[in-house]
Amino acid sequence: VDPADSLVHALAAAVAEAPDRTFLSYFDARLSYREVDGLSDSVAAHLAARGLERGDRVAVLLQNSPHFVLALLGAWKAGAVVVPVNPMYKSAEVGHVLRDGEVTALVCSDRAWESYLRETAAGSPVRIVLTASELDFQTRDDARVLGFERPPRAADADDLVAVARQGGTAPGGRDPRPDDIALISYTSGTSGTPKGATNTHANIMHNAERQSTGLGLPEAPVYYALAPLFHITGMVCQFGACLNSAGTLVLTYRFEPGVVLEAFAEHRPHYTVGPATAFMALAARPDATREHFASFVNISSGGAPVPPALVEGFRERFGPYIRVGYGLTECTAPCASVPPGLEAPVDPVSGTLSVGLPGADTLVRILDDQGEEVPFGEQGEIVVRGPQVIPGYWRRPEATAETFPDGELRTGDIGFMDEQGWLYVVDRKKDMINASGFKVWPREVEDVLYTHPAVREAAVVGVPDGYRGETVKAYISLRPGAETDPDALAVYCKERLAAYKYPRQVEILPELPKTASGKILRRELRSRAHDND
Ligand code: ATP
Repeated sequence: VDPADSLVHALAAAVAEAPDRTFLSYFDARLSYREVDGLSDSVAAHLAARGLERGDRVAVLLQNSPHFVLALLGAWKAGAVVVPVNPMYKSAEVGHVLRDGEVTALVCSDRAWESYLRETAAGSPVRIVLTASELDFQTRDDARVLGFERPPRAADADDLVAVARQGGTAPGGRDPRPDDIALISYTSGTSGTPKGATNTHANIMHNAERQSTGLGLPEAPVYYALAPLFHITGMVCQFGACLNSAGTLVLTYRFEPGVVLEAFAEHRPHYTVGPATAFMALAARPDATREHFASFVNISSGGAPVPPALVEGFRERFGPYIRVGYGLTECTAPCASVPPGLEAPVDPVSGTLSVGLPGADTLVRILDDQGEEVPFGEQGEIVVRGPQVIPGYWRRPEATAETFPDGELRTGDIGFMDEQGWLYVVDRKKDMINASGFKVWPREVEDVLYTHPAVREAAVVGVPDGYRGETVKAYISLRPGAETDPDALAVYCKERLAAYKYPRQVEILPELPKTASGKILRRELRSRAHDND
């Protein structure tokens, strides 16, 4: 087998290399490479026995757990396309994905099945259901760890238990091919109704390879899954990269700062990737120490803006340097990152931290509104061509043609590149605020707010204003115990930004709304501002 073909092939290679090495670590449970291989074979056999065909879609609604991995690998071994779904989605959101993705099989927790998914699935094409207890690997009482009691098994999935426990074998001849669709990743929806991005096995392998080689990690590296696996960053940069290097993946259900610190102390991970908000939450813990981070060789953050103040503050307090990466679901997570050993430069004019250098085989260009390339240092839309760029959206030829003209990804992000090729993201095109005809990029204002010692999270949006058209409003959450008030924060910005940029309105909230992958939802704050108008 060529491990470069797909993660299924990478699994076979890892089993051959180190069958007894721990692949998954989940609280007290450990699963070796050989065990994961056998159990995922059973899942594949079960799905095939229930009539699942090559290319069929399998939705997986689970938090970070061995069950997620078994479902994913099992579905791939059965030749299926996996549709990872945020398990916190409400019924209507799941329903959209099940119908839009024409999903045949569903894997979820027993609790979600009993409480709402049975009903949601009833009006969808789903005809095969697998609940987490059917994927049981009989180790420990997860229920205690997860804080809920394990409900009775879903009756219509009973027969799976037999298959899983006997250990079936995978259906032959269904190994994924590099250009097969591996995932339909519904974009997290910070900008509207989720669309399904079709990530191929080749797309995934390209980025998994980039996140596992050349990082200076030791043999059999330990990855900690800080980001959720149902989001492309967690899936590719943690799960995919870890499997590609036959490492150990530490999973702890979902992000809980206290649990994360305990896991760092116990497992001594070498690498993790997470959104900036996760590192902010860890830094806000009074019990976090340098010792918690002592084992890390590398830490990456991407998927959302990373304020320079976070990177500096984090290094000072804990030691590791947070390497920034930039990417989208449409390019299977990163397309640019800060190579190990280098540090991201800060643009002297705007104070923005670079998001890194494009990979060697990736072409990043900055285009103006006419589609012409702009000179170094000038702003325009970031477009990407490379082996991680997906072929398009699931059954949306128009959106595909618009976003991927000639196979090149139009990111919708505004950025610029310096003469050395370092890429800078200014902001999302559609988040620009137009205040009396002046362009204000929320990101620049947020970066200033993050330098204020009391600020934990900041998000800036445009709100309607009778006089200026739009005015700048900042939403803030404070660090525990910190004291300040909206006026003081506005003055702080006024001293550091041009008059048209500083927030005329500041509102302090206990916490800012975020997607499950940890991105602050400006969209929700904008509608909040409208509602309060
Ligand atoms: P939707 O596409 O539905 O709006 P989403 O934007 O959250 O959802 P993702 O593909 O997860 O979907 O996010 C990609 C976006 O995240 C990029 O277009 C960019 O705006 C932002 N982003 C990613 N990395 C960075 C970074 N390092 N700095 C600034 N912004 C980033």
